[in-house]
Amino acid sequence: MTRGVRDEDWDRAVGALDQAGEICLACHVRPDGDALGSMLAVAHALTARGGRRVIASFGDQPFKVPRILRFLPGLDLLSPPQAYPERPRLMITFDASSVDRLGLLAGHATRAAELIVLDHHASNPGFGTIDLIDPAAAATAVLAGQLIDAMGVPLTAAIAAGLYTGLVTDTGSFRFSSTPQVHRMAARLIETGLDPAFFARELLDRAPFGYLHLLSAALGRAVLEPGQAGGYGLVWTTVTREDRAAGRLPYEVTEDVIDEVRRTDEAEVAVVFKESDDGLWHVSARSKGRVDVARAAVALGGGGHSQAAGFTTDEPVPDALARLRVLLAVPDGPRPVPSAPAGAAEAGGR
Ligand code: 5GP
Ligand code: MN
Repeated sequence: MTRGVRDEDWDRAVGALDQAGEICLACHVRPDGDALGSMLAVAHALTARGGRRVIASFGDQPFKVPRILRFLPGLDLLSPPQAYPERPRLMITFDASSVDRLGLLAGHATRAAELIVLDHHASNPGFGTIDLIDPAAAATAVLAGQLIDAMGVPLTAAIAAGLYTGLVTDTGSFRFSSTPQVHRMAARLIETGLDPAFFARELLDRAPFGYLHLLSAALGRAVLEPGQAGGYGLVWTTVTREDRAAGRLPYEVTEDVIDEVRRTDEAEVAVVFKESDDGLWHVSARSKGRVDVARAAVALGGGGHSQAAGFTTDEPVPDALARLRVLLAVPDGPRPVPSAPAGAAEAGGR
């Protein structure tokens, strides 16, 4: 299952970066900490070396950096997708599992003469001319760190801030994929002088007051379906535009709701339907390990990892949920004894 990056591909990537006069960076839409953090870290590293133009963006309209990521150093390195060259000579994508995840910049990636794809999603088909894809990497930030090392750029506090943000985000604050390699990388990043407590507060421990009422509404209408997900149990809920309207909350505050819902002992799979401003449903799915949610998400046009995946749909929730139930019905592992309390003993195992 480990499909590491070949040495020759690191060499080709570094060679292409060395020769380029202009380098275009893009991360996936509605960027999370891994996408934006990895991209900014590489933007800092490329800028540090000087001598070429660096353009960094993501394909959202309106172009807005999520509030919880505005503490990151280097936001001044970002430009809106409208400023992006139509036909980039050299483009790098970050944490995008497929080209459509680049939103407005998907066409630019398709037209790029050289396209480096830096990613850790197993579902990534390898859409670059140079694929730096490793599903065994805990975060795209791990690969971004390897690229920066391969370029021979020393870590600075600004680079470390982006990489550490990616690590914290994608490991659920060192809960998942918390390998010795991840901790060694974290140690190196902290040694640049960054304050882990500051990052924890910014990334994990803050929300506007209105979030409390949104969370209360979403959790209050959560539904437990013990017979679903192959008998291991499904818990799901929705976060609607109305939930956000009262507190004038941006879409991004809905991203954390899944972390509460997935606690549910009685459910192997947790799903949150999050309604965006344009009425689409962005769906977050999490599994404790016995059901592959990426397989279901990919079948519904999305992507992700076996234990954390998502998709986007314009279908009404009951219709999307019906299709999801069918796709989740076949777990990878053995079926439980029908009378056993589903998932109770394994809660939290990952
Ligand atoms: P989250 O639920 O935190 O938004 O995302 C979990 C995982 O699913 C991430 O790896 C993310 O890239 C992937 N994912 C979430 N939403 C979508 C989507 O709409 N399309 C695709 N292709 N992947 C998604
Ligand atoms: Mn990631």
